[in-house]
Amino acid sequence: MREIRCEDIIQTVRDLCIQANCHLPEDVRQAICEAKSREKSPVGQAILGDLVNNYTFADEKNLPICQDTGMAVVFCDLGQEAHITGGLLADAVNEGVRKGYTEGFLRCSVVSDPLRRVNTNDNTPAVLHLRLVDGDKLTITVAPKGFGSENMASLTMLKPSVTREQVEQTIVDAVSKAGSNPCPPIVVGVGLGGDFELSALLAKRALLRPLDEDNPDPYYADMEHSVLEKVNRLGIGPQGLGGKVTALKVSIEAHPTHIAGLPCAVNLNCHVTRHATAVL
Ligand code: SF4
Repeated sequence: MREIRCEDIIQTVRDLCIQANCHLPEDVRQAICEAKSREKSPVGQAILGDLVNNYTFADEKNLPICQDTGMAVVFCDLGQEAHITGGLLADAVNEGVRKGYTEGFLRCSVVSDPLRRVNTNDNTPAVLHLRLVDGDKLTITVAPKGFGSENMASLTMLKPSVTREQVEQTIVDAVSKAGSNPCPPIVVGVGLGGDFELSALLAKRALLRPLDEDNPDPYYADMEHSVLEKVNRLGIGPQGLGGKVTALKVSIEAHPTHIAGLPCAVNLNCHVTRHATAVL
């Protein structure tokens, strides 16, 4: 059994927090650049130009792309043949987040209790999603999530008899209702099926998919393109000031579900669609 040390996990999570907040993934940069050439609205074009300048500057200076450096959502895929030594995985992840946010001078936005709201001052605890997988490696993805976009998430328990068009309309309505709040151009993550909580997780995982990749199932790939077209006809545009580019991508993840239901979760990401991955 291969051993993975907690101290390596701490250092990796620390570095990923800083990396994700300061350096936008290449596919997202490309998508914003391409959006600029597609956008017809002069205001929309100017905003997209500002976004390009902003992420370029952040990249060069190693500064956060946005002041909201998010809640640290951490996905860990742990190989069944690996053994964590020197402590608990969750503690190591939280220590990595604490170091990343304090040593990287990233804004700490987490409160210790949803009602009494005292800042923990180190952005812990993280939201940790652990999955046991094949092999002996640990894959860690840090995806800091700003709450301008997170607050616009929705989950609808649809009737199983709805048509595909009605499902598409549910997603489009969620984006329409969100308007400018999630800082468009957005990425739309959709989770279809499973149960209540799995659909939400599917929607969040959908946001990690590279923007130049469609769902491997042609049925859902076609649906992604169809919803994207409808969303971009809403006219919300970059930063909600009007235009053709409201969303850069719609990613749908589907899962088997119960005969009596059809959970439909929509999780939006802003133009700062941040995530960084490392394998130990
Ligand atoms: S939604 Fe995104 S771009 Fe808007 S403030 Fe939050 S992190 Fe920044």
